[in-house]
Amino acid sequence: MHEMGLCFELMSTLDDLLKREGVSHITSITLDVGEASMVVPRFLLDCWEAAKADTPYKDCSLKLNLTKAHGRCRQCGFVFAIAENDRKCPKCGSMDDFDTIDGTEFEISEIETDDN
Ligand SMILES: [Zn+2]
Repeated sequence: MHEMGLCFELMSTLDDLLKREGVSHITSITLDVGEASMVVPRFLLDCWEAAKADTPYKDCSLKLNLTKAHGRCRQCGFVFAIAENDRKCPKCGSMDDFDTIDGTEFEISEIETDDN
């Protein structure tokens, strides 16, 4: 599953960060996850629970900050929220004819540690 791979990638990113910052224990991380990032939040949370067992991150909780995706219509240039409008431009009615301009992010926005 795609989300499982993301969890392992996330842990290797955290490994690097721990080494670089000299942090010993992470208690929680927050991810910015865009609507258009192709990540299913519920799967991601489930996978995190499974992936972190027997790792240094077993106490680390995962929080998701979900962000909306917007598209710019290729016909009229109007910018709109993709999911709310069912992928249809509310101004000119063009269906599925837009460039995604945000909402594809998948990145760590916050890390909490219990180090001083
Ligand atoms: Zn349009």
